[in-house]
Amino acid sequence: MGKKHNFSAGPCILPQEVFQKSAEAILDFNGIGLSLLEISHRSKDFVAVMDEARAIVKRLMNLGDDYEVLYLGGGASLQFAMVPYNILKVGGKAAYLDTGVWAAGAIKEAKKVGDVDVVGSSKEDNYSYIPKDYKVGSEYDYFHCTSNNTIYGTQIKEFPEVDTLMVCDMSSDIFSRQLDFSKFDLIYAGAQKNMGPAGVTLVVIKKEILGKTGRENMFSILDYSQHISKESMYNTPPVFPVYATLLTLQHLENNGGIAAAEERNIAKAKLLYDTIDNHPLFETYCRDEDRSLMNVSFKLIDDSKKEEFDAAWKSAGISGLNGHRSLGGYRASIYNALPIESVQVLVDVMNSIK
Ligand code: PLP
Repeated sequence: MGKKHNFSAGPCILPQEVFQKSAEAILDFNGIGLSLLEISHRSKDFVAVMDEARAIVKRLMNLGDDYEVLYLGGGASLQFAMVPYNILKVGGKAAYLDTGVWAAGAIKEAKKVGDVDVVGSSKEDNYSYIPKDYKVGSEYDYFHCTSNNTIYGTQIKEFPEVDTLMVCDMSSDIFSRQLDFSKFDLIYAGAQKNMGPAGVTLVVIKKEILGKTGRENMFSILDYSQHISKESMYNTPPVFPVYATLLTLQHLENNGGIAAAEERNIAKAKLLYDTIDNHPLFETYCRDEDRSLMNVSFKLIDDSKKEEFDAAWKSAGISGLNGHRSLGGYRASIYNALPIESVQVLVDVMNSIK
């Protein structure tokens, strides 16, 4: 069967070269006569992978030695708990922006650790926009936001100036656009969209923010400082996802870095949003100014066309276009690795529906 046009929201498409090189490493890693999957994580070959996987993130983000990079298990969801556990002071308070199901998940977990104020929420409007009318002062230990809302197709374009630490869940748009990453004190992202396979989560932390909560006797596995002191090998790391992530990031670096990826992503998003806007039968769910460059959630205005449209995109070799179960409709995830040619195939199918 020919390769599909993969619009899946994650796990999702990765550069073909990553699949190729990953397959080679599983059979014979670096020509050492052993699989990547059967060598010790303490072997010099894997330690080199981990070292480079940590270093490349800082190069791509243009961050200095005041930041540490970790690759952890437990998904982005574990970070919903680890973030407050590590930086919400005992008796302190955190500010959260509620922009979707994942942001709400982060809020729910943080509330189990300490006090949380939701400083802005678009829940009442089915998360169709990014709230902008709020202020975060120094009374908060940190501010948490979600840069891209994978389900609703909204994205923060301008990050707020806050008078406290800035924490961001970048799971679904990491490495997709140029940002001043030094504005953030803690960034986390599940790998399974723009970075690699599921099973590893990237955490980037400004070291100086740690050790200030007054929380004693912390679980070591949940303590960022422990992971940092063991160079992201406190326990056996998910070796394959880390290696595949390294390959993806090397591919990004060798193809113009984040700046070039952003240009490609803007072109893909423009092609798709222009098609939706000019088509009488399709519309997006969210406000125009908050439209995501990564997840384009849209619906049919006339449901009687559903059968025809579904049959057409499936027969064009498109996969993963159904919307999230909580929103319905369609979602075209156009992550870094998706070529514009695949967007063109979708656009042609949409334009064939009259
Ligand atoms: N945050 C965002 C923005 C997501 O899109 C997702 C999953 O899609 C998550 C968090 C949860 O990630 P995980 O499944 O790695 O826990």
